[in-house]
Amino acid sequence: MNEQEVDAVIVGAGALGASIAYHLSKAGRKVALVERGAIGSGCTSATYAGINVSAKEGGCYLKFTLDASRLYLGIEDELDADVEYYNQGSHALVVERESDWPAALRNVEELNRVPGINMEVLPTPKAQLFEPALPKWIQGATFCPVDGFLNPHKLVNAYVRAASRLGAIVQTYTEVREIEVKSGVVQAAVTSSGKIHTPLVINAAGVDAPSIGRMVGASIPVVPAHGQVITTARVRPFLRYPMRGLVQKRSGNLFVGTTKKYIGPTHEVRPELLPGAISKALRLFPFLCEAPAVRIWVGVRPWPIDGLPILGPVSGVKGFLVAATHSGITLADMIGHVITDLVVHGNTSVEIDHYHPDRFKGDQLSFVTKMFGNMQVLEPRLFA
Ligand SMILES: Cc1cc2nc3c(=O)[nH]c(=O)nc-3n(C[C@H](O)[C@H](O)[C@H](O)COP(=O)(O)OP(=O)(O)OC[C@H]3O[C@@H](n4cnc5c(N)ncnc54)[C@H](O)[C@@H]3O)c2cc1C
Repeated sequence: MNEQEVDAVIVGAGALGASIAYHLSKAGRKVALVERGAIGSGCTSATYAGINVSAKEGGCYLKFTLDASRLYLGIEDELDADVEYYNQGSHALVVERESDWPAALRNVEELNRVPGINMEVLPTPKAQLFEPALPKWIQGATFCPVDGFLNPHKLVNAYVRAASRLGAIVQTYTEVREIEVKSGVVQAAVTSSGKIHTPLVINAAGVDAPSIGRMVGASIPVVPAHGQVITTARVRPFLRYPMRGLVQKRSGNLFVGTTKKYIGPTHEVRPELLPGAISKALRLFPFLCEAPAVRIWVGVRPWPIDGLPILGPVSGVKGFLVAATHSGITLADMIGHVITDLVVHGNTSVEIDHYHPDRFKGDQLSFVTKMFGNMQVLEPRLFA
C-alpha cells in the first residue's frame, strides 16, 4: 500500500477544503487534499455562488459574513486567476405589496446595525432608477451594496492550483475511508489509494461531514437541504443587478430559484418545489414566459442544524478539525484563514465562539437531529 506523511489531510475539495488547502500551504504546512470525485464536484458545483451578505440575520454571523465578503476584494490578484468576481451589490428584496414594507424596513434597520453594510431603501420610482426593468406597480426594493457573485468552478480550481504551486498534494477520485486514532490522537487517514500519516485531519466534506465525524466518534450535525435552480436560455440583457432568486449572467442566461428543502440527500430534480420563484419572476417580468428553461440543477446543501457554521476542534480527539457550513462560497476564504490560524497559532482573532463544534450537546442535539431525520422520512411534501 502506498504510504505518505503530511502535516494535515483535508477531506473534500469543495470551496472550503480548497481554500483551507491554499491558506495552510501558504503558511508553510505540507497538506494533502483528498477528494472522492473531481475538484469542486460536491455542492460547490451546484451553487448560485452569491457573496451573500444581505440574506443573513443580524448580529455576529452578519458581521462574520461581511468580513468574509471583504476578503474577496483581492482574491483574483492573490490567486492569480480570474474568478469572475463581481461586487456591485444586489437587490436584497423587491417589495411587491404595501403590507410587506414594514418587514422590509425592519430588515434594513437590523442589517444596518452592523457598520459597513449600508443597505438602501428604494421606494418606487427610485427603485426604477436603479433597475429600469422593474415594473411601476411594485412598492420598491431594498439594495445591499456589499453583496456580490463569483464563479464557483473557477474559484475552487484557482485555490487548488495555487495550493499545488505551494506544494500541496492533491488526490482526486480518492476516498477517505478511515481515520486512525490512538489514545485520542489522530495518526493517519486511510484512503482508497493508501494510508497518509498525519497528526491532523480537517473535515471539509460538506454534506458528508457527519460520516467523516463518525470515523473519530464525533457527531457533526449537518443535514442535507435540497437546492434547485432553473437556467433559462439567453434573453436580452435587462437586469443590472442580481436579485434574490433571479440573476442574469453575463451570457444573458437567467438563474431562477432557489429552494432549500429538507427532503434527504437526493439530487432528484423536483420542479414542483420551485413555483414561488418562477411566479415571482413572471409577475415582475412577464416577458420571461417566452424564455425557455434549458436546465434544472440540484445541489445538496450542507446545512448545520442551527444554520451557523461549524468550525474548529472536536473535544476528545486531538488532531481533528471541522469546517462545515452553508453559505460556503461566501465564507470559503474566511474559513481558510480561520482554520489556518487555528492550526498555526492554536487560536484566531476572528470571533468564532458561536461556531464551536461542541455547542450541540445532549438532548438538543438528539432532538433536532431526530426532527430533521423524521422530516426526510415522514412527509417530504409537508416542507415544500
Ligand atoms: C442551489 C444552491 C444555491 C446556493 N447558493 C449559495 C450562495 O448564493 N452563496 C453561498 O455562499 N452559498 C450558496 N450555496 C451553498 C454553498 O454552495 C455550499 O455551502 C458550499 O458549496 C459548500 O462547500 P463545501 O466545500 O463545504 O462542500 P462541497 O462543495 O460539497 O465539498 C465537499 C467535498 O467533500 C467530498 N467528500 C465527501 N466525503 C468524502 C470522503 N469520504 N473522501 C473524500 N472526499 C469526500 C465531496 O465529494 C465534495 O466534493 C448554495 C447551494 C445550493 C445547492
